[in-house]
Amino acid sequence: MRNAILEHTKRRLDWIKIMADELQQDELEAAIKTAHENGLRIAAHAAEPAAGKAVAASIDCIEHGYGLTYETIKLMAEKNTFYCPTIVCNLSPEYIADRELRIAKLDSVQNPPWSLKAGFLSHLWINGHRESH
Ligand SMILES: [Zn+2]
Repeated sequence: MRNAILEHTKRRLDWIKIMADELQQDELEAAIKTAHENGLRIAAHAAEPAAGKAVAASIDCIEHGYGLTYETIKLMAEKNTFYCPTIVCNLSPEYIADRELRIAKLDSVQNPPWSLKAGFLSHLWINGHRESH
């Protein structure tokens, strides 16, 4: 993992994206530490529970973030972690209705006094490895 990050520092990238859902905690921490030591920001393709672990380890951006918990969102706000949500068009009316119900429930129960920074990264493939999408 560390060597893969170091390889990308030679390419003058600003950001690198990792698949946090597939990494062990020590790999996740090594990736974040190596990226930061080399002046890169690092984003994580992550759903819970990997998202929470990545935020705790000081990831710069959570992408997708399916199932983010209240605790993770709160920690993201405290650490100024970017959030790059998945925006999908052409969803079914049933999915949209269910999502709106869940959002309304979350707002009414939690009503957080903070907000998250929004981020955006595009798809990029390098050497056959999906780096960002
Ligand atoms: Zn992704």
